[in-house]
Parts: sequence; C-alpha cells; structure tokens
Amino acid sequence: MQALCHLLEASASLHHHLCPRQVLGVRLGMFAGELLDLNLPQTDKRLYTVVETDGCAADGIAVATGCWVGRRTMRVEDYGKVAATFVDTISGEAIRIAPRPGIRALVNDYAPEARGKWEAQLFGYQRLPADQLFSAHAVELKTPIEQIISRPGLKVTCDYCGEEIMNQREIERDGATLCRACAGESYFLIKQKLPRANVRELVCFGAQRTAV
Ligand SMILES: [Zn+2]
Ligand SMILES: [Zn+2]
Repeated sequence: MQALCHLLEASASLHHHLCPRQVLGVRLGMFAGELLDLNLPQTDKRLYTVVETDGCAADGIAVATGCWVGRRTMRVEDYGKVAATFVDTISGEAIRIAPRPGIRALVNDYAPEARGKWEAQLFGYQRLPADQLFSAHAVELKTPIEQIISRPGLKVTCDYCGEEIMNQREIERDGATLCRACAGESYFLIKQKLPRANVRELVCFGAQRTAV
C-alpha cells in the first residue's frame, strides 16, 4: 500500500490541483484495499471499480486503486455521488463505500490550522480515521461482474449501421446483430450527415518500434 501523500501527489499532478474530493477518492480506494485485503494500487486487473461520479473523486480512486476506464477495470455510473463499489473479481466479494453523512461537521477538529472550510476539508479528510469517514456495505451487483467485464477482444459488426462492436456489447434481435444505438438505446439523435471535410492528410510516424 502506497502512502497517502504519494497517492495524493499522483492524483494532484493528474488533476492539476489537489482538492477535498480527490482526498476522499484516494482514501476510498485505500480503504477498499484494506477491506478486500488487496495490495493497491494494482498492476493487474483483479480489482474492478464502479465509481458513482465522474468528478474529482474518480481521479483519486483511480490513482489509489490502479483501476482505470482505459484498462477496463473502472466504470462510471454517474449518480453524482462520491462513492464507489469495489469488486474482487477473483473472490467475487463486492463492497460499496461512501462517506458518512455529516463528516463536514467533523473536519474542523482534525484541521485546526485550516483557514477556511475548503482547507478544513482538504486536511480533515486526510486525517479522519477511515471508520469515521466512511460507511461500507457488502453488496451484490445486479449485473454479474463476468457480464460487466464480458469477453474482451470479441468483435462483431452491427447489421444496421455497419459499425464495429467490441467486448460483447451487441444485442441479438430477430436473428440480427445490433449495436445498442440501433437497438433503440441510443443516447443521441442524428440531425444530419456532414460533408467530408477537405483536410490535409496528417501522418504521424509515432514511436519507433523497439525490438523485443
Ligand atoms: Zn478537483
Ligand atoms: Zn448499429
């Protein structure tokens, strides 16, 4: 387990500043490691995290756990809450951790040097004992974790729009393979097709391959 200070530094450099919600996020992630007895931040994909906000706390949680959207070990279910569910994909154990209501009233006692509410939260959230800061519940995911992770790398094509669908996110209907958008679960409406832009072709040679 890396020390709180190192994790906060890592989170702040990613986020360009340190704020109270990142502190809560880092501590949430660290507490998850304690409760699930996992060595975090992980370098493998054993822990899967469902975060309930896309804000500052998510960065703190990612840094402390090693779970990232781009690694397929984190999902955002935006409930607008600084809370998260942590799933040990080997044991199947799942724990939801959230800040206790009323912690803002406690921070002053832990941050006597603070020059205002914001600083009191910034320092206080670092110092409050985890059991005073958070409540935790063992939970069961409504969608099994195997289904959330799915079969990475699997690719099919949508019979309607022709776009590629990865990771088993297709829907089979009346013998057709559809993407979620074409199956009616779209989050957007198409207004009009845009003309091809007349752009200069840019070529990036990228990083040189190194022999292994
Ligand atoms: Zn922030
Ligand atoms: Zn489609």
